[in-house]
Amino acid sequence: MDSSTFAQRLLLWRKANPRPLPWKDHPDAYTIWLSEIILQQTRVEQGLPYFERFRAKYPTVEALANAPEDEVMKLWEGLGYYSRARNLHGTAKMVASELGGQFPETYEGLLQLKGVGAYTAAAIASFAYDLPHAVLDGNVFRVLARYLGIDLPTDSTEGKKLFARRAGELMDAAQPAAYNQAIMDFGATWCTPRNPKCSACPMSPNCQAFQQKRVEQLPLKSKKIEKRDRFFHYLVLRAGGETLIRKRTDSDIWQQLYEFPMVEGEALTDDPKSLTQTLLWQELIGDNDWSLRQIAGPFRQVLTHQKIVAVFFEIDLEMKQLPNTPPFIAVEQKNLNNFAFPKVIDCYLKDKSLYLRLV
Ligand code: SF4
Repeated sequence: MDSSTFAQRLLLWRKANPRPLPWKDHPDAYTIWLSEIILQQTRVEQGLPYFERFRAKYPTVEALANAPEDEVMKLWEGLGYYSRARNLHGTAKMVASELGGQFPETYEGLLQLKGVGAYTAAAIASFAYDLPHAVLDGNVFRVLARYLGIDLPTDSTEGKKLFARRAGELMDAAQPAAYNQAIMDFGATWCTPRNPKCSACPMSPNCQAFQQKRVEQLPLKSKKIEKRDRFFHYLVLRAGGETLIRKRTDSDIWQQLYEFPMVEGEALTDDPKSLTQTLLWQELIGDNDWSLRQIAGPFRQVLTHQKIVAVFFEIDLEMKQLPNTPPFIAVEQKNLNNFAFPKVIDCYLKDKSLYLRLV
């Protein structure tokens, strides 16, 4: 198969189908890195407003490095995969303090940055420095699997090696930035997972999947991710206009985000009495009088490996002030919007009118 035909057709396709995106106007390493970290595991439409907000607030890597962590997490709120936000902030600090504000100018150097894998390093190396490194993300895997008719699963060791080799061979090394942008845009908008535009596709005469009528079958994946169910019962304690929250710091999901006191259970319950025997309840409420104002939820959030179901018990306490029990802090309820919460809590805060209906 002629690799130059593929690259030429792809570049012609791009000319006819331009996809303007704000970071394409700023081919500096900081902007590209920022856009790529925001877009990891995120659709462009969802990530775009976040990119614009981050770039407006932090126009330089130094500005991002000097920002308070809570401010960065708050700006990231709703985008998910929060380890990316922590890596973003940590890497900005490192680049600003140890590299004099300059991103590494080689693929290998970029790979040393936290949160930067092979794909992101190739994107920055090609877009910012015009270095010949082929990008390989989900969209590119799909295009290559179909065009070349590759039957190896994209997530197998053997498959990854073969795809990386073939991606490098097909790339137009004379114009890596244009080529990489073209194949990413082509995968995102044309050779899509469902309903690809095969009938109008300039690749179709050489596309193995199209010729063999296997477009729907490719690419192959070997692993199916099992999702674990988790049941969170949040205690929204209320006294004197305040409530308790804490920052999640354990090695679990949602590090550095805030949450209400939480009791995790084997199953979901709508009976607050079943929570009264827990250590957390004893610590925070003890023998104080309490009354249930309402139970809200269940609210659901699906993560890569887990499905979270959360209910919120709003409890009025007969005390003037909430107890001082670290790591919990008392905050005014009207100020909750200043903190970054996981999506499931954000949904609750935005819609506190739903009452519990267990299904
Ligand atoms: Fe993708 Fe269809 Fe074009 Fe093949 S013919 S590259 S499957 S859009």
